[in-house]
Amino acid sequence: MNIRIGLGFDSHAFEEGKPLKLGGVVIDFPLGLKGHSDADVLLHAITDAILGALGEPDIGQIFSNKDPRWKKADSKVFLQEAINRMRQKGYRLINLDCVIVADKPKIAPYKNAIKENLSRMLEIAPENISIKGKTREGFCREDGIACFCTILLIHEG
Ligand SMILES: [Zn+2]
Repeated sequence: MNIRIGLGFDSHAFEEGKPLKLGGVVIDFPLGLKGHSDADVLLHAITDAILGALGEPDIGQIFSNKDPRWKKADSKVFLQEAINRMRQKGYRLINLDCVIVADKPKIAPYKNAIKENLSRMLEIAPENISIKGKTREGFCREDGIACFCTILLIHEG
């Protein structure tokens, strides 16, 4: 099989006194996200999408939130591990499509910065990365940010 699809989902509650990071970009917002690591919900969803496409264990199994090594960790480390496993298996990314569910902050002003940052980290062109901000439209409580990501991998061979 030379093409594999992956789906990642993640969510974190808001927390005071922590910077908000989405896709490795620091967002100007008074609240951060609660979590063992830096709680970058977008990088976690992308990491899990890649791992899922490969049939690897998920992000929580590889990077336990009980392990002190990952306390306050930069989530780039998690993404890099997923990318390394992808390359070891001979795959590369074709594209990814991400939905960030948040009433606040507004995602639109940061879309390009997030795309450029992800483009550098994933080594694919920005036009192969889609970032969409969606509001809840009254569904569930507004106490954090959720993120969905689908990705497509192709085998290099
Ligand atoms: Zn997470």
